[in-house]
This record gives sequence, C-alpha cells and structure tokens, in this order.
Amino acid sequence: MKQYITQNFNISPSVFDFGEEVLKSIDFKIIDDIARYNQLKVLKAFQNNRVSDVHFNSTTGYGYDDAGREVIDNIYAEVFGAEDALVRHNIINGTHAISLCLFAVLRPGDTLVAVTGKPYDTLEEVIGICGENNGSLKDFGVNYKQVDLIDGKVDYNKIMSTIDKSTKAVIIQKSKGYSFRPSLSCDDIKKIIETVKGINPDTICIVDNCYGEFAEKIEPTQAGVDLMAGSLIKNPGGGLVSTGGYIAGKKEYVELASYKLNSVGLGKHVGATLGMNKEILQGFFMAPITVANSIKTAKFCGAIYEKLGFTVSPSSDDMRTDIIQAIKFGTEEGVVKFCQGIQQGAPVDSFVTPEPWDMPGYSHQVIMAAGAFNQGSSIELSADGPITEPYIAYMQGGLTFESGYLGVLKSVQKLKDSKLINL
Ligand SMILES: *Cc1c(COP(=O)(O)O)cnc(C)c1O
Repeated sequence: MKQYITQNFNISPSVFDFGEEVLKSIDFKIIDDIARYNQLKVLKAFQNNRVSDVHFNSTTGYGYDDAGREVIDNIYAEVFGAEDALVRHNIINGTHAISLCLFAVLRPGDTLVAVTGKPYDTLEEVIGICGENNGSLKDFGVNYKQVDLIDGKVDYNKIMSTIDKSTKAVIIQKSKGYSFRPSLSCDDIKKIIETVKGINPDTICIVDNCYGEFAEKIEPTQAGVDLMAGSLIKNPGGGLVSTGGYIAGKKEYVELASYKLNSVGLGKHVGATLGMNKEILQGFFMAPITVANSIKTAKFCGAIYEKLGFTVSPSSDDMRTDIIQAIKFGTEEGVVKFCQGIQQGAPVDSFVTPEPWDMPGYSHQVIMAAGAFNQGSSIELSADGPITEPYIAYMQGGLTFESGYLGVLKSVQKLKDSKLINL
C-alpha cells in the first residue's frame, strides 16, 4: 500500500505515515451505525411503496400519470417523516428549492425571521438583503429580521424577543455553510422550533437542510419542522443524480411550493420526468452510504489538520450533523494550496489547477476544487474557500472514503511542498 501510494500519487513517505497514524486514532463506528440505520429506513420505504421497474419509465409533455414521480415523492416523504414531498429534476439547486419554500408561504406584509444568523450567501438576493427591483421577497413587501448567533451558538433569548404574532415564518440553516460555527443537530432544531412555536404556534418553520440529509438518524421534519429543502447534487442524490432539488414537509406547504415551481392550480401532478426517475431513486437508495463516505472523509480531514495544529470545525471527536469540514488556515496561500491538493485527488479533472474567481451570488472571490461527474456536485469530493479573512477552507463530499482519503493526503502534500507545514 505505502509503496503503491507514494509511487503512483507523488505522496511523500512521511505524509503517508502521518495519514496512517491519524487513521489509527479515529474510528468510524458511529458513522457506520447511522449509515446502516438510514440505509434500512430507505430500503423499507422502497419496499412499502412497492418500487418496481415501471417506476423507471419516462414521461414527456405534461407528464400526467407519472407513477415514478409519485412514488419518488412518497418515498422522500416517508423517509423524512414528512406529510408530503416534491422531488424534481427541474428544481435547479438548493437555492432554488429554498427560494420556492419562502415564496410559497410568505405574502406581502409578512415577516420572515432568520433565527440562525445570516442565511447562506445565495439567499441574500432572494430575501432582498442585497439587490433591488428584482422580485426578491423584500421587493414584494416581505419584511426581514435576523437573529445572529453568539459565538456560533443559537441566541434563544434574542429569538424570544424577536418572534411575535406578526412572524409568519422562520428560516433555520442546519449546516454551517460558509461560516465557522457548529452545524445544528436535529435536537437543536427541535429546541429552536419549540421556542418559536411557544411564542407563535402559527409560525411556519423552514429548514435549509443542504448537506444535512442522512448525517443523523432523523431529519428536521421529524423534529417539528414544517418545510425543508435541499439539493439533489448534495446528500440525497447519493452522487448519482445529475440535477434536481427536493422540498418536504406539511402537505399544504408542499402544495404551495409546487404552485411556485409549476403554476397555481397545476401543482404536483404534472411535469415530465424525461427519464430521470431511475437515477433519482437509485441515488436516494445509495445516499446513506455515500453520505457516510463523505463524513468519514471529513472526519479524517479534520483529524489530520487538527493534528497539524490548525483550528478545525468540527473537531475530530465532535458529533457530526452534516458533511462539511472547515479548516482555518489563516492565510490565502493555505486555502489555495489546500483546494488545489483536493482537486488532485478527484477522478475527473484531477489535472486542473483551481484559482480564486468572482463567482456569481458571492460578495468576494472564491476558490473551488471540484473534480466531479456532475458539475458543481458537492457530495463528490470538493472544497471551497472564500478568499477573505480568516481564510477558512470548507471541504465536503467523497463518493468513496478511499478516494476522499487520497484527496486529503494530496492536500497535505501540497501544503508540505509549499512549505506551509513541516512533515
Ligand atoms: C449548498 C447550500 C445551499 C444552496 O446552494 P446551491 O448551490 O444553490 O445548491 C444553501 N444552504 C447551504 C447551507 C448550503 O450548503
């Protein structure tokens, strides 16, 4: 093994040995246990819904009577413990799915409160925190308030003083996204919802669940959330789905979201699936194991950089509730070399050298390592680093732990070659 890796991947023997030492110090028992549970939960839903090859058939045009589309919605709803779900290849990404949820339930004069700090960057324009006359929520007269985190923790007191009878909806972000804070567990989410509903039981609680699916044995919809959304090129697509998003939650809200995606009155029961059903089903079936591979990669990466003396989040023995590993490098060069190393571990475009660029929807330059079968897929090994203080890189994904492992070693090698670390 050592000879094969050092000779074929330009890894120094010292880097390999360091990797072995770190591997010995961590264990994957909890991750495997969660994966087995979730795999069986998914299997059970497939069996209960009598999935058969007729569900792999394709529809065109209006897409009436698409049995596969209906079974997919039912399986997602069952696995996530939700009343209903809307899973579609023409939901472009996570931003689109979350945006549909917000526009589905908010009306002019309503107030939305972000209770876990500033939402993910791409939602700023959707809400209207930035941009004008563009059809954002603000443009349609929806008020917005934000309860910031304190030292990365939920500020329950501030939530209690902000929520009132006029609060129509709250948005909760489960995963850390591009911020250096602990990701929330479903227990945390339950506590937030109890706090919010304790003051105004009619508040619609929406969760941005991107990167969170299958990291725990339950999902936010099983912790009291009314509506949640995510991307199919992240966790629930299992790395197999080429494009799409999902929404799950209370039936009436899912219906409203389907009106936004399609047309008022048309809703869920139309939309050609164009041959996507099989990959959406197979991807969801694989997702618990793919997520486990990603979390193992994240845990290995966290343990490696922790041992090298960097501040990491989560730390190697923290509970994990999403697939992200953040590493604070403190220098632009650290972030850049790390991402370039991750890229070299990819099955696709391993020969490409990523550089920082002005990415649409983000307010600063970003470097992205992405060597993926599906463009932008971040359940596949990938890393992003906003080029701004304090220079943090966020790594996620890994279809297999064995390939993710190599990407992490390549990143260490890259830092060593640039003399940013001694090994
Ligand atoms: C990925 C992500 C989103 C949405 O991003 P898309 O690129 O539009 O899928 C939103 N919130 C969080 C926390 C995310 O990780």
